[in-house]
Amino acid sequence: MEGNDIFKDELARYIQEKGFIWGPEPELYGGSAGFYTYGPLGKLLKNRVEEKIREVFTRNDYWEIEAPTIMPAKVWEASGHLRGFTDPLIVCRKCKSVYRADHLVEELMPGKADTSKNVMQLIKQYELKCPKCGHDFEETVKDHTLMMKTTVGVDTEAYNRPETATTTYLPFIRYADFFRKKVPFGVFQIGKAYRNEISPRQHVLRMREFTQAEGQLFIVKKDDWEKFDAVESGKISLVPSSGKPLTSTFGEMLERKLVKSKAYAWSLWIACRLFASMGIPESRMRLREHGPEEKAFYAAEAWDLEVEFNSFGWVECCGIHDRTDYDLKQHAKFSGQTLAINTENGKQVPHILEIAFGVDRVVYGLLDIYYEKKEKGHGLTKLKIPEHIAPVQAAVLPLVKKPELTRIARAVQAGLKHIISVYDETGSIGKRYLRQDEIGTPFCITVDFDSIKDNSVTVRERDTAAQNRVKVDEVAGVLEARMKS
Ligand SMILES: [Zn+2]
Repeated sequence: MEGNDIFKDELARYIQEKGFIWGPEPELYGGSAGFYTYGPLGKLLKNRVEEKIREVFTRNDYWEIEAPTIMPAKVWEASGHLRGFTDPLIVCRKCKSVYRADHLVEELMPGKADTSKNVMQLIKQYELKCPKCGHDFEETVKDHTLMMKTTVGVDTEAYNRPETATTTYLPFIRYADFFRKKVPFGVFQIGKAYRNEISPRQHVLRMREFTQAEGQLFIVKKDDWEKFDAVESGKISLVPSSGKPLTSTFGEMLERKLVKSKAYAWSLWIACRLFASMGIPESRMRLREHGPEEKAFYAAEAWDLEVEFNSFGWVECCGIHDRTDYDLKQHAKFSGQTLAINTENGKQVPHILEIAFGVDRVVYGLLDIYYEKKEKGHGLTKLKIPEHIAPVQAAVLPLVKKPELTRIARAVQAGLKHIISVYDETGSIGKRYLRQDEIGTPFCITVDFDSIKDNSVTVRERDTAAQNRVKVDEVAGVLEARMKS
């Protein structure tokens, strides 16, 4: 095994054992690939991530909505998913194992796949065999739909949504009323989506049921965008589809014609802002432009935000697309309704600028980036996650289990009203510190015998092990100030 794989396994074990993410579920019945349960710590972490998403979108004038996760076939016919949302599938002639063809080629011939050839040509050229039994594959690559079918009522064909976005576009006429018939306006959604992946691996990076977050900006004049002025000097690493990687400001991106409009450049900035707020270090972020062959046919502009993971290298984590008027025109055509807005130039169909990403990838990314194991052995694991995103923010620890100390400790915990804390009185104080380090708790508050006399406690910091004496009635304020970010 390579070092990378050892780390992946170690991280997967840590995520499982500490109660972040469990699965594949249902474990009790042997497990089904691509489905996971968030355990108590994972759920706290995911909630924090989602809080940050809400905060950033709301502060930038996007409004949150929540749409159904199941829609009738007609919707997916209009969106193009029923026809085109497929992965290439190959089947082993002998053992009948199925594989996602493009992933198999990439896995067996890493970095060697010639993008000008189709996947069957590559399989033949490299004489790839079934990894399980060593036999040949069937002659043809099949289209495997990622759509999960279901039935509504007695016999209405319907599908679980493969992305949240389409369901965000559907209430357009209602938005027009709510936003008083004016564009631009922004809406966002956080919710479940479903993709029937052929054989999902890579932990929660590829799930069959996952959480997506997306912001959609409905706009007519993409260059008339005042908000851009405040952000144009922000810097970011770029990988354009042609030319060398570079570091640039958002303003320079526009000047260099790497992007076409101010509103789109601003959307890229929002994506970076989101990821920074969720705790991803800027040094591990970059924007990569889609090449002509990967860009969706309706997209006028497409960049991905990529994050550098310790386990998987650079991973695509967020797509930022100028979807033009494609979606609204499709839904107008299939529904027979007018989806347009009155502007100074008459009725116009707004364009949509989309920022879309998987929330689970971010959660995994945070665990991957901040997990640290000093050396082999017990008790040296640390999760150095930023304070404001840590699942548990403080632990209250009476030095010993004596009523005069536990009484104070319980009162201290009750005072931490805006902080998620745990109370722990079992084991030596050293062991309890390590237990908290392991799950990323940034502060331990220890109540000792001096606390009875001076009405103070010791606050220990996770990363430096520095200890400070703080008055009991000031603890909540001190910690809350540290959580702001
Ligand atoms: Zn086989």
